[in-house]
Amino acid sequence: MRRFKQYTVIEYIDYLKTTDINRDINQIHLHHTWKPTKEDYYNASNKEDIILGMWSYHTVELGWSDIGQHISLAPDGRIWDGRDINETPASIKGHNTGAFAIEMIGNFDIGHEKLEGKQLEALIELLIALFEIFKGSKFLFHREYSKKTCPGTSINKEALLRMVKKNKYPSDISEWAKKGYDFITQSDLSDGSRPKTPVTREEMWVMIQRYHEKYGK
Ligand SMILES: [Zn+2]
Repeated sequence: MRRFKQYTVIEYIDYLKTTDINRDINQIHLHHTWKPTKEDYYNASNKEDIILGMWSYHTVELGWSDIGQHISLAPDGRIWDGRDINETPASIKGHNTGAFAIEMIGNFDIGHEKLEGKQLEALIELLIALFEIFKGSKFLFHREYSKKTCPGTSINKEALLRMVKKNKYPSDISEWAKKGYDFITQSDLSDGSRPKTPVTREEMWVMIQRYHEKYGK
């Protein structure tokens, strides 16, 4: 029987970092399950049955080789594994090559359930790590290439990306310094660590030299 394994976000990130990934992952796709809902998940006495239900629907009803998504993000913020990371997902029609597919368990259309609490925190933590591991990846909502509302009309892509970006700042960084932080980290002039410690003359020389290498010529 097909079995599924549960991870915390940290465990799953660790799994990704220590696994040989032999295909080029260059896009991250976000979905909601619509059904099963969060309520279905809470009510299930065996949570794995919810994932098995999707697996059975995907393989038996739809005739796919395996469950469509690489991971399912549960309402409690835990991650269930899915299709092998080295296999192309059944995610967004015509855009599956190079994709990493996330299914959030829930119906996030307005008037139904909300993406919040542990599930939202886990999603943000996960996206920060995925953008780091699969650098330069496109981030797509299913609805950008489909008539569906997926991942739900209550989820705004820009707002979600703002949350991802905000979380990336060191906790002690001043509001007025954030623009500068973005510039120096994105242009590799400094790694952005120790925002409040004094800079030595040596460190300043190197930052000026890096700036010159990059922009001064
Ligand atoms: Zn979808």
